[in-house]
Amino acid sequence: MALLDISPTLHAGIAVWPGDVTFRRTMACSFEDGANLDLSSIRTTVHVGAHADAPSHYHPDGVGIAERSLEPYYGPCQVIAVDVGRGQRIRPEHVQVPVTAPRVLFKTGTFPDPDDYNEDFAALSPELVAMLAAQGVVLVGIDTPSVDPFSSKSLESHNAIFDNDLSVLEGVVLTHVQPGTYTLIALPLKLADCDASPVRAVLVTE
Ligand SMILES: [Zn+2]
Repeated sequence: MALLDISPTLHAGIAVWPGDVTFRRTMACSFEDGANLDLSSIRTTVHVGAHADAPSHYHPDGVGIAERSLEPYYGPCQVIAVDVGRGQRIRPEHVQVPVTAPRVLFKTGTFPDPDDYNEDFAALSPELVAMLAAQGVVLVGIDTPSVDPFSSKSLESHNAIFDNDLSVLEGVVLTHVQPGTYTLIALPLKLADCDASPVRAVLVTE
């Protein structure tokens, strides 16, 4: 058994959505300044790095992340590589393999560097979300900052995720991961009322 880390490193240089709050760590005490310990705090968007969106992020009636069931974030998970262009939505016909697990992560390769934001990343389509939900999928994830394209204002995939009560992971790193089946562990923090939470996402290999 081995753990494949699919989380980008959270640090001052990680790219966040343009205009969102970047990652900053502040030292309250430090060995360097003669204190008897290091003590620090962080300030950043809850959508930093690999993260789970809560329904309250994309729907006025949606609950916060602490109220969501943890089950979707742990269990059998399929990584599916899709050949989709920059800025495109993944449509059902892009999925060339049978869906065999209740959690699916899409490897698009269209957001290659977590520290260097590119706006032309690929996203999901509402038709794909509906298809996955109809097949019993409970969580969908992607290796880009959003399940909708950068310029989308109507957030069709987010809405389809809400309508089908799916859980979602964004910002996972799949560069080093082969398509196949794993066990996903990506539990969100119990952040009251928050519209998302960072996760430490890993895939367990047998
Ligand atoms: Zn998000």
